Amino acid sequence: MSLSDPLLSVENLSAFYGDAQALAGLSLTLARGEMLALIGANGAGKSTLLRSIVGLVPNRKGAIRLRGADITNVPAFGIVAQGIALVPEGRRLFPSLSVEENLLLGGKVGRPGDWNLNMVYDLFPILQEKRRAPSTSLSGGQQQMVAIGRGLMSNPDVLLLDEVSLGLAPVVIKDIYQLLPRITDNGLSVILVEQDVNRALGAADRFICMLEGRVSLEGRPDAFSREQITNAYFGT
Ligand code: ATP
Repeated sequence: MSLSDPLLSVENLSAFYGDAQALAGLSLTLARGEMLALIGANGAGKSTLLRSIVGLVPNRKGAIRLRGADITNVPAFGIVAQGIALVPEGRRLFPSLSVEENLLLGGKVGRPGDWNLNMVYDLFPILQEKRRAPSTSLSGGQQQMVAIGRGLMSNPDVLLLDEVSLGLAPVVIKDIYQLLPRITDNGLSVILVEQDVNRALGAADRFICMLEGRVSLEGRPDAFSREQITNAYFGT
């Protein structure tokens, strides 16, 4: 594999829930250190794409490659060990565990590497203060930090962030977004699903707009007019 090869590639991926098709032959690539935003209306298939990459949608066709190796049929627990971590919509922390215990669990399922508790606390100092508190006692924004920190603790090459800003106060969202470049500066690649199109386009190196399980537009945010992006978003 050469440096110019994509870190992750998704090739002609289709996914189904029963008879319903949620992804319809979608392809994408992700480079090392890249922040890729996925935008699209409700039901476009953004979460399904992220969940398919980590092996959580069993009924799929197509191929997923990480560092050139085919990981399409690697089970979900194996995908984390290969270096892809999903921060799921709704965070899904373990409510009976403390902040620190939740973070440590991320370390257990992943790979050895640079990310450890100290680095996560350096990124999100409030979590160090709250490290013994039950995760459920934290604010929504702090819980999202735990979810991101737990993903980082698995030392991924690719971090998939599904709707990190959902339900959070604007000031908290701003804080989290300000920290995201520190994650990609470490060489990690991020795929970001975000409802707020302006925020997504402002944070990303490149975006993919999805419509009915397909790519309707992709490129650098500044390469398109707002009208072109709106048309791709709504299929108009
Ligand atoms: P949202 O912003 O609403 O989360 P999305 O772009 O992430 O939307 P998905 O959640 O991936 O879209 O949904 C894509 C399609 O698959 C939708 O038609 C949705 O109803 C359907 N779908 C998603 N999850 C399931 C499921 N577990 N069972 C059946 N259908 C599903």
